[in-house]
Amino acid sequence: MMRHLVVLLLLLPWTSAGATAQTPSSTIPPGPTVSVYGGQYHLATCPRLAGHTPQTMPLADALRAGAGPCEVCRPNVVDQAIGAFAAEYVVAIAREKGGQAEPPPEIEPPLTFREQAGLIMVRVRRGAEASFEQGLGDLKVALANVPSRRSQAQGWMAYRAVEPMAGDTLYMFLFDPAVPGADYNLINVLNEGLRQNEAVLALQRFTGSLASSMNLLNLQLVQQMDLAAPTLPPSTTTLPPVAQRSIGIPTLGEATPRIRSKCAADWPDDFRMRAYCQEQQTTALQKLQTRSMTTTDQLIIRRKCLTDWPDDFKMEDYCEEQQLKALASIR
Ligand SMILES: [Zn+2]
Repeated sequence: MMRHLVVLLLLLPWTSAGATAQTPSSTIPPGPTVSVYGGQYHLATCPRLAGHTPQTMPLADALRAGAGPCEVCRPNVVDQAIGAFAAEYVVAIAREKGGQAEPPPEIEPPLTFREQAGLIMVRVRRGAEASFEQGLGDLKVALANVPSRRSQAQGWMAYRAVEPMAGDTLYMFLFDPAVPGADYNLINVLNEGLRQNEAVLALQRFTGSLASSMNLLNLQLVQQMDLAAPTLPPSTTTLPPVAQRSIGIPTLGEATPRIRSKCAADWPDDFRMRAYCQEQQTTALQKLQTRSMTTTDQLIIRRKCLTDWPDDFKMEDYCEEQQLKALASIR
């Protein structure tokens, strides 16, 4: 059921590896040579390179191209020269990409939740789970380092789905409660709570492991099953306009030819009854048009009656009346 869910796409800018920057006057040394394949840099012995033709280039160029460290061969950990170079120059290279001598943009658009709870779904490439979960550890540290982020951290859980999802691994951030108005943009959280080079490395861990962009959902609480919790009243929330538009009651102009042909078919040899039929159908259509049907339950009724009586406004109207009476009686 898609009610209440608004899906936004959160696309991290790092996910698209930019073209190699032209930096003839760069003071950054080229660094050790690495093998670049699949948006990552590897050791030449990496099993992931088997059957592929990686590009060999200096690490500085690989970082400029947006490549992150492979989580299988772990070049930053296994090869000290690579690890030291990445730690020392990754920030300078990010700056170089963002414009000479200027620090990289620190504030991303804030990501806030409109409802009391929220969910972010993240698809992580198979094999990149360790790198992503290392990033989660960085995130925890970043949140803990900023006192004003504590309440966000308290309601923020990260789960991994045991069941695979089309070859990827699904992670979920559950925010319950979500702090109203607080910024949940991971980039901002990391930049705020970590030293710059740590934040860049943490972002590399995240972005290097994502299989696709993240999906964000705003969640409304509709019932708590705990007996001790207060019973929430039925939702009076209106569905997004798209859902309302999809269940159309036609205008009189649109409906008139349908009414005429229906009544003609019902009363082929009785013009008095045909006229009465048209009058009844038109009156019912006007009632349908003016009836306010905006809550979720009301929209369910509208959909049902339209489905049951697709070409009979009188019966559709009667159906709605009866269903609304029944709905009121069970409240
Ligand atoms: Zn590798």
